[in-house]
Amino acid sequence: MIREIQAKVLLSHVRQPDTWFGLKYSMNLYRGCQHQCIYCDSRSQCYGIENFNTEVLIKANAIELLRKELASKRQKGTIGTGSMNDPYMPLEEEANLTGRALQVIARFGFPVHVMTKSDLVLRDLDTLRAINGLYAAVSFTITTFDDDLGRKLEPGAPLVSQRLRAMSTLAQHGVYTGVSMMPILPFLEDSEENIRSIVQAAHAHGAAYIIPSFGMSLRDRQRAHYYSQLDRLFPGLRRRYERAFADQYHCPVPNARALEEVFIEECDRHGVAPRMKQYEPATATQLPLF
Ligand code: SF4
Repeated sequence: MIREIQAKVLLSHVRQPDTWFGLKYSMNLYRGCQHQCIYCDSRSQCYGIENFNTEVLIKANAIELLRKELASKRQKGTIGTGSMNDPYMPLEEEANLTGRALQVIARFGFPVHVMTKSDLVLRDLDTLRAINGLYAAVSFTITTFDDDLGRKLEPGAPLVSQRLRAMSTLAQHGVYTGVSMMPILPFLEDSEENIRSIVQAAHAHGAAYIIPSFGMSLRDRQRAHYYSQLDRLFPGLRRRYERAFADQYHCPVPNARALEEVFIEECDRHGVAPRMKQYEPATATQLPLF
């Protein structure tokens, strides 16, 4: 079900220094996500999204709020979108909230980071190019190179091959783009072959960087949903998780260290950075005192 709501606030301030993406503000235009990845952390109770599996809410007043909030911001900093829902889920095609929000961001001159699993981002290529004068980055989440596995894990999202083609187009137009390779799911995506294939494919499609995380998080509602989907899609695998992780929140892949070495080696070979270049505000040139 899709319905509209009125939000009170749109941008939230990122308090901890964000070492991965360098975000200062986080922007969610929707609540819930049509991509329905089986591992999604946004199902966790702490986020208070009650019907994550069945409902998406559109923040109908988001653009108006964004204009108002940006007008009052004194400090420029990267606005990130895509952590709690995908800004290019299918309904964005008609709602165009992300597209309009990017135009507002371009007008106010803020840097932006978009995280997505969808090639629909290409619709906003011109706006992203305009923001790119300052800083625009688009990270595609890719955790498996295998489209068949991807269909099971991310049932509502475009295929990895589509994401890679979109990345190529962005790179050809000078937009800073790369891969968020997280989460790497234990016992499903933690093979050397998968890691090497992702790095090679990302490089071949213009990725400037890949940010990895060799493991996943699991808690409360997220864990319950993930395990129910494992039972459906990979019978018997839940037992392995229960034995390896019990109630742990951080669930690293068992061969994390070895995979990290493989990852770095493959990145070095292809000249892909293992972290992204973040926005840095221009500092005023200091004038000599005398
Ligand atoms: S695209 Fe992101 S936010 Fe949406 S369901 Fe998948 S992991 Fe969750």
